[in-house]
Amino acid sequence: MIRLSLCADRLTRSLADVDPEVARIVQEEDWRQRRGLQLIASENLVSAAVREAVGSVLTDKYAEGRPGRRYYAGCEFADQVEQLAEARAREVFDTDYQVNVQPHSGTSANLSVFLAVMKPGDRILSMDLAMGGHLSHGSPYNASGKLYEPSFYGVDKESERIDYDEVARIAREVRPRILVAGASAYPRQIDFAPFAAIAKEVDALLLADMSHIAGLVAAGEHPSPFGHADIVTTTTHKTLRGPRGGLVFCRDAWKKRIHSAIFPGTQGGPLMHQIAGKAVALKEAAEPAFVAYQRQVRANARVLAEVLVERGYRIVSGGTDNHLVLVDLCERMTGAEAETALREHHIYVNKNLIPFDPLPSSKCSGIRVGTPAMTSRGLDENDFRSVANLIADILAGESVEVAERVGALCGEAE
Ligand SMILES: *Cc1c(COP(=O)(O)O)cnc(C)c1O
Repeated sequence: MIRLSLCADRLTRSLADVDPEVARIVQEEDWRQRRGLQLIASENLVSAAVREAVGSVLTDKYAEGRPGRRYYAGCEFADQVEQLAEARAREVFDTDYQVNVQPHSGTSANLSVFLAVMKPGDRILSMDLAMGGHLSHGSPYNASGKLYEPSFYGVDKESERIDYDEVARIAREVRPRILVAGASAYPRQIDFAPFAAIAKEVDALLLADMSHIAGLVAAGEHPSPFGHADIVTTTTHKTLRGPRGGLVFCRDAWKKRIHSAIFPGTQGGPLMHQIAGKAVALKEAAEPAFVAYQRQVRANARVLAEVLVERGYRIVSGGTDNHLVLVDLCERMTGAEAETALREHHIYVNKNLIPFDPLPSSKCSGIRVGTPAMTSRGLDENDFRSVANLIADILAGESVEVAERVGALCGEAE
């Protein structure tokens, strides 16, 4: 009986009771998120419903395998939630591609794709990290760059946009097994049709990694890669506004290889609580309010760019089509200095290389500013006009009533 009651006790005591240290840290992070302006382009704020699913007992369940074909007993509810997530993923992106919702992250989603379709030493062609690409697309520091042979395309020096003729030229020279379309710091629309044509011409597979723009795609605010790409990967936690994780979609022909490259190829048991959270986020993404949200995300980014131009900054590529703005600080300071100055006032952005940046990535000539998180908090164009002016004032060293102004923007958003 004593054993039993101890056990019950362990199962029901609150975090604050069991572990005040971690409880305090969580609470402080909650406060940091509420009191500041979260402008990191890859971040968002999930709903309480998503957090409830992620904090659920599904974390306890081992469910290796696919729904209906698991290696463990007792997976009936794991099956249900995973099937729900899969059906919703296909519905949200309006696609009949096969889907796997198990990837723990965007990077592991990409790794599984590479494992599925390449042999070690095969060639990848992707966007240069220094031009806005992602490290999981062949960086020498990532497994993708150690196991495979990467080549890179960048952006045009003048327009600072992808030059599809140049991508085609490099593709003909390199003849990659896989061509990757997708970026982490690219403020312009990505056109998947020319990428598909290039891939077809050089007999490569096209992987569209829509991690940053998945929410926009779901809402019809960015052209969709479905129908163009052989395989589509995404994170779930950026504009899509779900819990941390990844998804892989593929045409039927790749289904078996993709599923087995995820499990057992690169992962063990799926994180069923995260998958439950993905299912909830995908339900939210199918609601009309989500379209309005993504429109606002873009409208806010446009205003942000406009006001920063008015305030004398150069915006990479001259503007934005999506949820982020890449600001050239025009040698007034480094990106690292700007990041620090803003952080001191509870404004969070990240230093970022600009195309053809003369500075190393530890310093950077620019910052990347994104609107998804604060748009989730309810900020509109007027608010983002204030946000842009605040940023410009702080970077100019004018810190008049900054604390009040940050507080007002956060408070208004409550
Ligand atoms: C964020 C991102 C990823 C990786 O996501 P993680 O979940 O951090 O591993 C992959 N590709 C692109 C284009 C991204 O922007």
